[in-house]
Amino acid sequence: MWLPEYRLALAVWTALAPVAFVVLMLGVQAPNYGRFFSNQPREWFAPRSDVAWLIMESPNLVGAVMCLYWCAARAENTHGRPVRAESYVLVALFVVHYVNRALIYPLRMKNGQKRTSGFVTCISCVFCCCNSFFVLSGILKYDAARVPAASSVPFCGGLALWCIGFLGNIHADHVLRTLRQHANDAAYRIPYGGMYRFVSCPNYLFEIIEWSGFALAAWRVQAAWAFALWTTANLLPRAHRVHQWYMSEFDSAYAALNRRACVPFIF
Ligand code: NDP
Repeated sequence: MWLPEYRLALAVWTALAPVAFVVLMLGVQAPNYGRFFSNQPREWFAPRSDVAWLIMESPNLVGAVMCLYWCAARAENTHGRPVRAESYVLVALFVVHYVNRALIYPLRMKNGQKRTSGFVTCISCVFCCCNSFFVLSGILKYDAARVPAASSVPFCGGLALWCIGFLGNIHADHVLRTLRQHANDAAYRIPYGGMYRFVSCPNYLFEIIEWSGFALAAWRVQAAWAFALWTTANLLPRAHRVHQWYMSEFDSAYAALNRRACVPFIF
């Protein structure tokens, strides 16, 4: 793909994120996964949740391997300059996140081998193919020259924010996992501790922080901001829905905890 085509495709991709946000906030929900999945009407393809996570998220790792292979072969971006170390650092952050999400997270899941909608699995997989293409080729090729220097404030600040988001997300996922006794336990309980004191979905909050930090570190790479926007557009409505679910499932006991959905004291 040539640079003007990349820019046009990325502009369309970015513009779709707010549309997705409005559609999701209006309550238009696809057949879903986890607590919202009901296989009615029955889908012919509904993989086990751990397999679904692998299918959904592995394009990010495959994309990273392909891009790094391209770099090894050419060792320069579209402007004919060598790919800088800062670009590789950003790719490393991307890979670390997706090694956890595509490989480690599904292996450690405890949900009684629940299934996930085939539609959701496919659409998420397509999303990850597009997103990894835009982000990785932006960092390594089309916008490589726009990645700031390692000593710059955006790069260092973004890196710090990414670390907070990544570790916070892992911790929030860990709290949920420890609510269940064994792999076949599929019951839902109220999570406590950490940022669960303030919000129902700190895992989503930290995921948003993580990709916002990534975008900050990439600074003028538009695809990284598009990714942060997409993450926010996807996770805020989902947090709202999960919060409503806790309120109806645990009733006044949950209301008394005075939590918000995703952003402490605000949303
Ligand atoms: P959930 O919080 O819905 O579920 C995470 C896991 O915890 C599931 O195994 C779930 O079981 C279990 N669980 C959730 N709540 C409870 C509870 N109250 N009691 C016991 N177990 C519980 O998260 P998601 O599945 O939506 O997301 C998982 C991770 O993926 C998160 O870290 C999220 O940030 C990330 N993600 C990122 C996206 C992005 O756009 N970047 C999009 C979606 C997710 P069960 O499966 O039975 O519900």
